[in-house]
Amino acid sequence: MTSTHGAGHHDDTGDTPAPTEAPPARGDPDRTQAMPRPRTQNRYRELLAAGRLVDLAGRALTERHCPWCNATTIGATCPLSLPCPTCHAAAGRHCRRPSGHQVYGGGVHASREAAAATADRIRQRDGDPDLPAPWPPDLVPAAQLALF
Ligand SMILES: [Zn+2]
Ligand SMILES: [Zn+2]
Repeated sequence: MTSTHGAGHHDDTGDTPAPTEAPPARGDPDRTQAMPRPRTQNRYRELLAAGRLVDLAGRALTERHCPWCNATTIGATCPLSLPCPTCHAAAGRHCRRPSGHQVYGGGVHASREAAAATADRIRQRDGDPDLPAPWPPDLVPAAQLALF
């Protein structure tokens, strides 16, 4: 039987580690998806289902319910989470035409889409770990490089 009798406990020097808690995920503003933008929606869904698409922290993206628009989201800013610059619909409210009817198809005004895209660019700059990583810039096809 082994014993650690007498094993000294040394006094802390004030350098105590913080309580154990998973460090918050950190996003890398320069991270991109590992593959070029898929050319079809089906291929995109395959990659998503296979866990091959990542957020800025490198974690696999998963679809979840969007509380703003009741569709699914992978973490990009939902236009409905912002007020609309065109029809002034409040966050969470659908866009309205001047007639008071909803915009056809439940869509949102282009300015609201643009506001969400701008919000995503700011989130990317700030390394928001929950933002889906953007697609890499299109690569020049090798055949074109060979011309030079
Ligand atoms: Zn949404
Ligand atoms: Zn609107």
